[in-house]
Amino acid sequence: MPDTVAAASGVQPEPASTVDYRLVRTHVLHRLKSGTRMADDVCDAHPELVRAGREVGSAAGEPCPVCQGDQLALVSYVFGPRLPAHGRCISYPTEIAKLARRKGRFTCYEVEVCPECRWNHLRRSYVLQPC
Ligand SMILES: [Zn+2]
Repeated sequence: MPDTVAAASGVQPEPASTVDYRLVRTHVLHRLKSGTRMADDVCDAHPELVRAGREVGSAAGEPCPVCQGDQLALVSYVFGPRLPAHGRCISYPTEIAKLARRKGRFTCYEVEVCPECRWNHLRRSYVLQPC
């Protein structure tokens, strides 16, 4: 899995804080392929997330696991003190570095989204730690 925004911005995940959701992703995709889950259930990205994927997301470096399209993007949202309740969508890698230097605990959530079929899944979360 690429370490996209964090690596590009000079920020490292605080190791003990990282939660990786790959097993959940694998389980959801297995259920989709076996027919126990419908595509409509998992391809339900909010229009704002789809927009963020198109406009500020970084390339995931792999095809969409549902439609095999090449538009799969990673979008990062940061939550913490003095940020909006819905978090801040990171548009530029330098933003995340600035947040990491602020006082307080900031948590980043990396979401993959496919603008073509609207597949979306939380990849991982971690607490920001400046390098
Ligand atoms: Zn897709």
